[in-house]
Amino acid sequence: MAVVVQKFGGTSVGTIEKIKAVAKKVIERKEQGNEMVVVVSAMGKTTDSLISMAKEISPNPNKRELDMLVSTGEQISIALLSMAFHEYGYNSISLTGFQAGIKTEGHHTKNTITDIDLRNVKKHLKEGKIVVVAGFQGINENGDITTLGRGGSDTTAVALAAKLKCICEIYTDVEGVYSVDPRVYTKAKKLDAISYEEMMEMASLGAGVMETRAVELGFKYNIPIYVAMTHGNKVGTMIKEYDETMEGKIITGLTINDDVLMITVNNVEYKSRNIALIFDMVGKHNINIDMISQTAPFEGHVNVSFTCSKEDSYAIAEIAKALQAEMPQIELSQESEIAKLSVVGIGMMKQSGVAAKVFNIFADNNIEFKQVTTSEISISYTINSSDKQKAVDALAKALEL
Ligand code: ADP
Ligand code: ASP
Ligand code: MG
Repeated sequence: MAVVVQKFGGTSVGTIEKIKAVAKKVIERKEQGNEMVVVVSAMGKTTDSLISMAKEISPNPNKRELDMLVSTGEQISIALLSMAFHEYGYNSISLTGFQAGIKTEGHHTKNTITDIDLRNVKKHLKEGKIVVVAGFQGINENGDITTLGRGGSDTTAVALAAKLKCICEIYTDVEGVYSVDPRVYTKAKKLDAISYEEMMEMASLGAGVMETRAVELGFKYNIPIYVAMTHGNKVGTMIKEYDETMEGKIITGLTINDDVLMITVNNVEYKSRNIALIFDMVGKHNINIDMISQTAPFEGHVNVSFTCSKEDSYAIAEIAKALQAEMPQIELSQESEIAKLSVVGIGMMKQSGVAAKVFNIFADNNIEFKQVTTSEISISYTINSSDKQKAVDALAKALEL
């Protein structure tokens, strides 16, 4: 019998009716002769609500306790789904990350999976049960419950599939991976297939349909990931190894990231030691910096800007205090009405002129950009959020996405 890992996201298990529908979908697959491992996220917006509660207690809640709190969301959905299987006459068991043998390391709320001890999962599969595993969570070497970062249930599912050496199916609230988020650009095209590299890049640049680490794991262990809509039977998107049939276009997708906080440190005395001090301080607070820019020196001073996640705004306030103690003349400002748009495509490795094309599209539409960064297969631009829709529409149309 083949093992299949299926993962259902928050919207797909958002109500009791939806949980029942998911159970029926899994049963159909089991009846075709498969052993089923099902990973689920917390119901609907449960994780957001739990985080809001924590923030009412403290603007910067203790991270171990935050993991303890948010991991409860998935425990509700695994229990309810497993109950549904029992109700429909199927043997099933729900397992927390710990019970499923998911071991993690790293910082609380941002852990990575180090290994999975499959003994328990395999034992229950052997007994004919549908095994329902809580996504997003694991256990660290101290025996503490940990979580894998937002969207981490995808990672749980792909990691399990990698260890079980089977296909991973990700079911969600859209029909697959599109060239652009279909909720922002309704004319976006669904992709039949996309390479791991392009999907990783799109995910890391804001295409929330898949979690980046999950795609990385799929790539590393060569696990095909099928993304499709939970309800209905429409054909979705296969994330797999790059092959020549995918080589139709230079640009495969456009991603949008609204989680951008732009920090500008004004009036920094122009010495490389000062710039190093700023980024040392940022590094010590575990802040992941994205884009960096600096103005030309004027009267011996420069302004330094960088972007990070809005989640880091508390730490930024701490950093501002520490920096001002060292360099009293600086002024620090934060801008949050910023969006990052990125064009992604493996074809860009061989083709030049994409950046110029995008600059022209921005110019034709009176859109100012603030920063630009490039990788081998993407170019990203930060712009004012107020220009976002105009920029998405213009780019998607001109680049035929
Ligand atoms: P789930 O709860 O199932 O994990 P997510 O909200 O994490 O669902 O991911 C699905 C959402 O991803 C869609 O509703 C869609 O708005 C968004 N999305 C962003 N970029 C893309 C894209 N390129 N293709 C498809 N969906 C995208
Ligand atoms: N429930 C978690 C979140 O909302 C994990 C997930 O949905 O994948 O981020
Ligand atoms: Mg998700």
